Amino acid sequence: MDMTGKTVVITGASRGIGEAAARAFAEAGANVVLLARSGDAIGRIAREIGDNALAITCDVKSWSQVKSAIEQAAWRFGGIDVLINNAGVIEPIAMLRASDPAAWSKAFDINLKGVYHGMRAVVPMMREKGGGSVLTVSSGAAHNALEGWSHYCASKAAAHMMTMALHKEEARAGIRAIGLSPGTVATEMQREIKASGVGPVAALDWSDHIPPEWPAQALLWMCTADADEFLGGEISLRDPDIRKRMGLGG
Ligand code: NAP
Repeated sequence: MDMTGKTVVITGASRGIGEAAARAFAEAGANVVLLARSGDAIGRIAREIGDNALAITCDVKSWSQVKSAIEQAAWRFGGIDVLINNAGVIEPIAMLRASDPAAWSKAFDINLKGVYHGMRAVVPMMREKGGGSVLTVSSGAAHNALEGWSHYCASKAAAHMMTMALHKEEARAGIRAIGLSPGTVATEMQREIKASGVGPVAALDWSDHIPPEWPAQALLWMCTADADEFLGGEISLRDPDIRKRMGLGG
């Protein structure tokens, strides 16, 4: 995959899937813009990647921070071709009846409003350039309720709807909106799920999870015309045929 000359903004790039995606897109020749709250981590990763990487500290809950980060990215690299809405949280895992309303709401602000903020900021720019790709990291939890995860399942389901809505409004303008359901991935999020001890995902063994490089590879593939049949929908890395098409084993 050659992404030379393309600029990719990745939210939640300080570790896990977002970090792996930043490295994979940079390896494919793209300019990469890393967003996360942990400025030190994204700064370090950007320095390791090189001159084609820019780190911008940003909390996706904040519209003004996302807008400013997208403007800085576009100014530095002359536009944005791909947005990867990846930032997300699983905490606080809690039964609905015992959940803390403020914490529940905060998770929604990150997992759903963060996606909206990213889309809202890049779409006008992409329209001006004649198109772009908006890839949103979804979850099997967008389609299945899991106990203790009401905030996560509901916010991921709503984020999936944002992909569908964006496709409906902007496909004709050349904006490619697709979701990725990665399966379970060996990241900090799975450590938090394990530590909660709640539900079937917490019972999985670490060896059951795929490495973050797999969804990173999938996100690269989603920028190709081969993925166009999924525009407005979601692809699942659990599907062996899809994995084969992306050149992933297992
Ligand atoms: P992770 O290692 O915990 O990484 C989450 C990332 O999101 C971090 O970079 C974190 O950075 C960032 N983030 C959290 N809150 C943020 C905020 N308010 N503003 C900006 N960035 C924020 O988890 P991961 O597994 O890589 O998760 C990435 C995505 O994959 C999430 O959307 C998750 O729901 C999805 N997913 C994961 C799995 C899995 O099994 N791991 C399965 C399905 C879907 P800072 O803390 O530095 O801000």
